[in-house]
Amino acid sequence: MLNVPIFPCPSCHEFISSSMTVCKYCSVPIDPQAATTAVELQDKVNRACNDASLVRNLAGAMWVLFCPSYSVLRVGGEHRDVPPFPFTASTANYVAS
Ligand SMILES: [Zn+2]
Repeated sequence: MLNVPIFPCPSCHEFISSSMTVCKYCSVPIDPQAATTAVELQDKVNRACNDASLVRNLAGAMWVLFCPSYSVLRVGGEHRDVPPFPFTASTANYVAS
């Protein structure tokens, strides 16, 4: 993917390349130092948005994983008093000893 540093024009807020000296939309002269600063700020904003969307996706995945495991635990809880295997005379002797 081509990674061209872009930033919003301080005048018209259209996204333009940092290599441009004049905005192609509103013809405002662009200070190269200000453009570099704006590109760094835009990069921080983009990373923050990516992190936020990752957190949102993980939160959604948590519910997908949590709900089935919760329902399995609930079903298991309803049958808590049922012995896990047939109760026979040999197990009764084992429990009594
Ligand atoms: Zn502009």
